[in-house]
Amino acid sequence: MFCGTKSPMLGRLPFFDYYRPTTLAETLTAMERLDGNLCVLAGGTDLLVAMKERRGTHPALLDIKAVPELAGIRADNGTLCLGATVTTRAVAASPLVRERVPVLCQSLKLLGSMQIGNRATIGGNLSNGSPASDSAPPLLALGASVKLVGKAKERWVPLDNFFIGPKKTVIEGELLVEVRVPASPGGRGIFYKLGPRNAPEDICIVSAAVYGVPDGETGAWKELRIALGAVAPTPIRARIAEERLKGQPLEPKLVDEAARIAADKDAQPISDIRGSADYRREMVYVLVKRALEQIARDNPGAT
Ligand SMILES: Cc1cc2nc3c(=O)[nH]c(=O)nc-3n(C[C@H](O)[C@H](O)[C@H](O)COP(=O)(O)OP(=O)(O)OC[C@H]3O[C@@H](n4cnc5c(N)ncnc54)[C@H](O)[C@@H]3O)c2cc1C
Repeated sequence: MFCGTKSPMLGRLPFFDYYRPTTLAETLTAMERLDGNLCVLAGGTDLLVAMKERRGTHPALLDIKAVPELAGIRADNGTLCLGATVTTRAVAASPLVRERVPVLCQSLKLLGSMQIGNRATIGGNLSNGSPASDSAPPLLALGASVKLVGKAKERWVPLDNFFIGPKKTVIEGELLVEVRVPASPGGRGIFYKLGPRNAPEDICIVSAAVYGVPDGETGAWKELRIALGAVAPTPIRARIAEERLKGQPLEPKLVDEAARIAADKDAQPISDIRGSADYRREMVYVLVKRALEQIARDNPGAT
């Protein structure tokens, strides 16, 4: 049985049983044996803060950081495979990720301070289900999927169907094992994050990612996707704006119209301590317009 030290800011961690399996098989056996009476612990940057703030207590924590099958970054033909426990900073610094999908490096470089980025995992950032997650918009725009493994079953879920509400995902007592990102040759992406003025690496007020593959012959774009953070109960695709852009070159008038659609029709922001709904809507317009203009320019993508 473990218990954390006392923090003057956040209070004491409640007692919990602590398990640290060293293989995926051991992890799945422990999950089955504990039958839902556990919480997966990855980097702990969300979970331990929540526990100290008494926003959740768990009788047992299953620490997955020592499971080798959940670690590592590799390429499988045209797909990039990210283990669930790879830290967000390791993804941001990976030459392979930079070469295949630089837009993901761009977003994860901005996730938290260096200390947070060195603990926070890509699996934890998605499983936590925050509408303001920094990894979600680029991964949605890239068309990523996640592998979930549970009691005697496993399934692949497109990220489009993964988030179902604030802090809610489709995970049902399962482990997120891997994130798969298709990396189309010639694809261009850009991520913009609007954070608090004195702490750009903090949780975003609004974020936007755009990804597409230019079709050299027609000047139109294939797979042009727009994703938004912190302007709806979950990270979202701006599908109405995407539809407006389908099959057409990114001309300035059309870009302006699509950005306005993303702000007025796709985004469903609320007002909270980080910003008002009206401000967020206006910032969606600004960020989406800038991102579309940026990928339309003749440069090889974001770095
Ligand atoms: C000071 C501070 C600044 C931050 N700034 C940012 C920021 O700028 N941008 C941003 O996006 N986030 C930010 N965060 C939030 C946080 O760092 C991220 O959400 C982080 O990526 C969570 O990953 P973790 O490995 O720490 O998850 P944990 O805290 O270990 O887990 C989070 C949740 O996911 C579940 N979980 C974790 N891994 C798995 C898995 N493989 N399968 C199933 N369930 C799993 C856990 O059970 C838990 O419910 C910040 C946090 C702090 C404290």
